[in-house]
Amino acid sequence: MSEKTTVAAVEGLLVADPSAPRLLGSRCKACGTYYFPAEHTLCRTPTCSSTELESVELSTEGVLWSYTSANYKPPAPFVAKEPFEPFAIAAVTLEREQLTVLGQVVPGVGVDALKTGMAMELTLGTLHEDDEQRYLTWQWKPVGH
Ligand SMILES: [Zn+2]
Repeated sequence: MSEKTTVAAVEGLLVADPSAPRLLGSRCKACGTYYFPAEHTLCRTPTCSSTELESVELSTEGVLWSYTSANYKPPAPFVAKEPFEPFAIAAVTLEREQLTVLGQVVPGVGVDALKTGMAMELTLGTLHEDDEQRYLTWQWKPVGH
């Protein structure tokens, strides 16, 4: 068991609670449009342009809209394991928010295990680690996986 502390890889994007990870977005109080990453200055809906945006936790389940395989090491700031292992990337649509959120798929689930329309849920995974800390990011996994 690791003694390392865990932190969110990017501050403000997610609640890195292993028992209940959530993505942090925002919602326009005027037209109800959701944003991820959170938008706090101005609603980007052309017919709205409200400046009243509130922070919200996004749904933790969605529907797989599209996916692809990352077969090459992404550029920095992505920190890839060496040797690089291909992984799947999923675009998951959150129904309540009508928002599609890209994310890495959990290790061990490749593109051949994915199918558009399947239910996906949010989980946490290690983006990278150093001697003291593990840096967590959100990942998608098939529900029940
Ligand atoms: Zn709006």
